[in-house]
Amino acid sequence: MEYRTGLGYDIHRLEEGLGLTLGGVEIPHHKGCVAHSDGDVILHALCDAILGALALGDIGKHFPDTDDEYLGISSLILLERVMQMVRQKGWRFVNADIMLLLQKPKIQPYVQTMRENIAAVIPCPTDRISIKATTTEGLGPIGHEEGVSAFATVLLERE
Ligand code: MG
Repeated sequence: MEYRTGLGYDIHRLEEGLGLTLGGVEIPHHKGCVAHSDGDVILHALCDAILGALALGDIGKHFPDTDDEYLGISSLILLERVMQMVRQKGWRFVNADIMLLLQKPKIQPYVQTMRENIAAVIPCPTDRISIKATTTEGLGPIGHEEGVSAFATVLLERE
């Protein structure tokens, strides 16, 4: 069996009064992401990890932030398009491990819904999608609530 791993990372600035969407869930908070799309760092990191596993470049290459087609777009749609590429190339999704770095708010109440959202789009069983979260203990720009970031790793296998 042939396997590929991929790594993804994303960061967005947080500003007062904008919407905060993470893992396809709209989270009530006084700050949200500055972005061309919905600024969903979890899904952007995941898309980049999947593209990376297939050495297909990055999310910015496939969905440029200069293209109005992607203005305010749900990143679940971007994930769906990335998964189409995976299938076209003859690969199958195995699992993903995602690490969110965010000082506030607590996202634990939303994690299960995020996992289900992602699993529905891939599609795969929910237990193949891991989402973990940590603060940065108040350190640096994430700790000062100036931004939110995420890392993702994935494994793909040859169909
Ligand atoms: Mg992004």
